[in-house]
Amino acid sequence: MGIDNAIPFVSRGNAADTAAWIAALSRAMPNETIMPFAQLSAAQRGNARVAIVANPDPTELDQLPALKWVQSLWAGIERMLAELKNPHIGIVRLEDPQLAATMAEAVVAWTLYLHRDMPAYAAAQRAHVWQPQPFRLASERCVAVLGLGHLGKLAAKRLIDAGFNVIGWARTAQTLPDMQSYAGDVALPEALKRADIVVCLLPLTPDTRNLLNATRFKQMKPQAALINFGRGAIVNTADLITALNANQLSHAVLDVFETEPLPAGNLLWAHEKITVLPHISAPTQKGSAAALVARNMARYRATGALPKLVDPRIGY
Ligand code: NAP
Repeated sequence: MGIDNAIPFVSRGNAADTAAWIAALSRAMPNETIMPFAQLSAAQRGNARVAIVANPDPTELDQLPALKWVQSLWAGIERMLAELKNPHIGIVRLEDPQLAATMAEAVVAWTLYLHRDMPAYAAAQRAHVWQPQPFRLASERCVAVLGLGHLGKLAAKRLIDAGFNVIGWARTAQTLPDMQSYAGDVALPEALKRADIVVCLLPLTPDTRNLLNATRFKQMKPQAALINFGRGAIVNTADLITALNANQLSHAVLDVFETEPLPAGNLLWAHEKITVLPHISAPTQKGSAAALVARNMARYRATGALPKLVDPRIGY
């Protein structure tokens, strides 16, 4: 495709990140011209039918009048969905198998951290206390994966491979090998009741905002643990602290927060039953993401077919 049909790259990222993305995308799509929004001519802005975006400024997207769809380089699109004024622009999320594999690795790692009582052993060492914890087999531990999408399905499979008894929960009924899955709000208490470890891999939508709150923590097994790798606002952190302080829950591993970076004074940092991670469970790999975007772009150029779009009515 010629320079007149350059693909805009629209991002609030810094200049170095923009340059690195454009280099990776250009390597994956040598026949396309990909340019930062600021460098596009008026004609190029007028021609653009598709843009590649990473946390885009909506006022820049408004200046692309012929835009039909945007390819996000992020898996979570709740902010773009809230900010985008034009309902006719389709949003395509990043569904990169490498991202799913990276996330599944993190889910297994932090599930094992909880399963093998690492928070208790770290505290015991700090106190110079020699205190073995009761041992349980992985098969005796039930892990509930909330969200059985692109990321949740593979994470559940890897947990099963690691020997855990895995159950899942999604909005619609799912049939997955070697695990029972539950669907919809009415089934959530039953899933929560069974789990020793609850892993949240849900998107942030109007239905999932504040989903994991005091009511849900009471529905969880006493001394269960929580891993949140979805989005911060899904968990009510004040209720979580109350549940941890009351010994209702044993520990929480949090990778995502309503405000990121987590402010230095936030109570979560110092809580002995909370592990704070700086949104690192599944960093996007530019190479694999660019290859996936290149496949979507090639299909669109050849056939006009759009990849699977986010459904704005349900928010993911
Ligand atoms: P996805 O493919 O869209 O899957 C979403 C899953 O959540 C689906 O199984 C869906 O159910 C379920 N779901 C949505 N709303 C629900 C509701 N109200 N009740 C019950 N289940 C509901 O998304 P994904 O690619 O797996 O990514 C999930 C999220 O992970 C992203 O939105 C992003 O926020 C987060 N993420 C975090 C990181 C990180 O580094 N921490 C990295 C990447 C992504 P159905 O199957 O019935 O549709």
